[in-house]
Amino acid sequence: MEKELLIKIAYLIASVMFIIGIKMLGKTSTARQGNFVSAVAMLIAVLATLLDSQVLSFTEIFVTVLVGSAIGTVVAQRVEMTSMPEMVAIFNGFGGAASVLVATSEYWRMAHAAGYSMQVVVGVTIIISVIIGCVTLTGSLVAFGKLKGLINGRAIVFTGQHAVNAILFLAALALSVLVVLQPNVQIWMMGVLFIALLLGVLTVIPIGGADMPVVISLLNSYSGIAACATGFVLNNQVLIIAGALVGASGIILTQIMCKAMNRSLINVLLGGFGQTSAATSTEGGEEIVVKEVGVEETAMLFESASSVIIVPGYGMAVAQAQHIVRELTDLLEKQNISVKFAIHPVAGRMPGHMNVLLAEANIPYDKLIEMDQINDEFANTDIALIIGANDVVNPAARTNPSSPIYGMPVLNADKARTVIVCKRSMSAGYAGIENELFGYPNCLMLFGDAKSSMTKVVSELKELMPA
Ligand code: NDP
Repeated sequence: MEKELLIKIAYLIASVMFIIGIKMLGKTSTARQGNFVSAVAMLIAVLATLLDSQVLSFTEIFVTVLVGSAIGTVVAQRVEMTSMPEMVAIFNGFGGAASVLVATSEYWRMAHAAGYSMQVVVGVTIIISVIIGCVTLTGSLVAFGKLKGLINGRAIVFTGQHAVNAILFLAALALSVLVVLQPNVQIWMMGVLFIALLLGVLTVIPIGGADMPVVISLLNSYSGIAACATGFVLNNQVLIIAGALVGASGIILTQIMCKAMNRSLINVLLGGFGQTSAATSTEGGEEIVVKEVGVEETAMLFESASSVIIVPGYGMAVAQAQHIVRELTDLLEKQNISVKFAIHPVAGRMPGHMNVLLAEANIPYDKLIEMDQINDEFANTDIALIIGANDVVNPAARTNPSSPIYGMPVLNADKARTVIVCKRSMSAGYAGIENELFGYPNCLMLFGDAKSSMTKVVSELKELMPA
């Protein structure tokens, strides 16, 4: 068979496998296989690309693949579950960087040819790849810095920010036109690169605290769009399809995140959100007075309850308390106490974070109830047990218009008859704001690390409850 045809068939198979893989990722029961199918598809796409007659040096390719794979393997094995969002952020950035490097090297190759005149369609694809790739790169680096605590997580705002961004964007567009008109004048391309890199920084710094999930999924989508544009630059079908899949699924995820944060997508695309930088205290600014509870008392409260809703959050991931929470669930259910899990779409530090953790502990998927479905149930529930969650149960989102998270849908855990909050201290959550729930009359604070507190509660319960 002709080599070109073989490559095209391999690309087609890989593309179909990517789509099947993504579909399988939609369910926890098939997610692992979905990941495997997608990985095999990527291997097929890479091998097919190696057959391409334009390959200049296999040695360079293999050396770089080896170095890249070694770094990737070490990083993936070492990364803590709680640091996954940072890793996702930096990988998005690398995706953007790869697109920029490929697109600019194509540009340079063409621009060096004497008397070269650039076709508009070629210029547009190169420019899209360069601008979106640069914004993804520096935007992701800022997001990484914010998530890792290297940069202040709060919104950095200055007057005229939108005007500056708009002017820079227009300047980048003007320079892009010059790139197409005068491809041999390389300073135009340098200008586009510089402005686009700056725009990435400027569009992510005004986004603070609780709005980061939207940014991460949006940057993920951008990396796909940049890759798709690069596919057009190289006339590589599998890159176009894979990039489009990442771009589209990233946008869908962004929309889900927007809904969860009560933001409109246009608001996100303009970068004009999450600008409330000040940390608020309670509505009246008064200090929160809390009631503490011990493990024995907590166990006794469970013993006399008939319904419990567990609200997991980021702290459960930090403590790795999911397995002991599973044990607690089993114990309670043995006593005919109903146990459900309330899942907030942005709980934790990445989309689906809680679903992954609870699935790892083999907690049946049907016990995980989405926010919209469970919110009305809290009022008829004896105990809401909040494990390492904070922002996602902050009633200020409903009651305090001056709060940075005002308007964000939250879990109505405060409506339960008794609320038990398991965390180590009165420290704020990711959004950096106090939680008035902790001072509510029906709220009890069980201070301590989630895993060790739950382990103690479970052993108390085992003594209290008949085997
Ligand atoms: P939060 O970040 O609001 O709160 C987590 C709480 O866990 C902290 O208050 C902390 O309190 C507690 N905690 C930390 N370690 C432990 C431990 N070992 N044991 C017990 N408790 C612990 O988490 P939520 O899940 O409620 O909310 C997620 C936040 O993260 C939202 O603001 C969301 O917007 C943001 N975000 C979400 C992303 C996503 O995609 N899901 C991505 C980026 C940000 P203490 O220190 O006192 O123990």
